[in-house]
Amino acid sequence: MAPRVMTVAGPISPDSLGFTLPHEHTGIALWHIDGRWDYWELTPDEDIIVDELRDYRRRGGATLVDLTLDGVGRDPHRLRSLAASTGLNIVMGCGWYRGAYYPAEVLVDRRSVDDLAAQIIGEFENGEGETGVRPGIIGEIGTDKPWVSALEERVHRAAARASVATGMAITTHGVQSAVGLAQLKILTEEGVDPSRVVIGHADSYHRLDFYLEVLDAGANLQFDFLGHRFGSEEALEPRLVETIVELLERGYGSQLLLSQDVCHDRQLKANGGFGYVYLQQRFLPTLRTAAVGEGEIRQMTVDNPARILTIP
Ligand SMILES: [Zn+2]
Repeated sequence: MAPRVMTVAGPISPDSLGFTLPHEHTGIALWHIDGRWDYWELTPDEDIIVDELRDYRRRGGATLVDLTLDGVGRDPHRLRSLAASTGLNIVMGCGWYRGAYYPAEVLVDRRSVDDLAAQIIGEFENGEGETGVRPGIIGEIGTDKPWVSALEERVHRAAARASVATGMAITTHGVQSAVGLAQLKILTEEGVDPSRVVIGHADSYHRLDFYLEVLDAGANLQFDFLGHRFGSEEALEPRLVETIVELLERGYGSQLLLSQDVCHDRQLKANGGFGYVYLQQRFLPTLRTAAVGEGEIRQMTVDNPARILTIP
């Protein structure tokens, strides 16, 4: 079969992806787990989200990857409907998110790693449950803390084996620590080519030595909290821009990705936020001001995500 990208509406040619947001959500809830502080929710209301996504499309967006997984609101049927009403290519993630959010019925602690991998492979081959919607990437596969828990290690190994079997890339969640290196080590131990791994949320741990270690290992690095306003993101953005410029100058342009991780109602335009267009309206103009060229912007927003999403 020719190389292709699997969207919720079926396979498409990698050339037709265009401008891509590789780490987003169009409906997620993190508040429903007992004893958790995460008070995150992004409404899955279709009328509201369609408006926000149409705005993204109007400003040049063509593809969006929704990494919401089972346990926090994944809804394949809704994703297919969003793609139909907006004209966007939508790619769905698969696998399990992080320890605190593994759905009880998956029985991560009782099944073998191979059995967990077989579930992901089965979904890749046949689509999710009754919907038949097929995933196009594994993730976001995460750690709850700055280490990989025993349970999470099993999911990482299952994700890795499913990636080797299917060709799907793996995209990760890990924040405010160098845990991405531990994740990458497990995945490569299982035989995953590091170029098929995206270490996400890199902007939450702004350390050049961490970035270089991920990049020199051959993995991809994703700055995907762009436009977040939950902490010090705005104040730190100028330094992040300098770091991205430095990584480009050092020749890592083919391994960098950018996204916005919309995951909270307050980020929506309807609520005074930036919606799904922070890159178009704010961040990319800032990069241009910092003398980042159009070729490099295209590499980070079109070519790199297309390569990651291409199933060989
Ligand atoms: Zn995440």
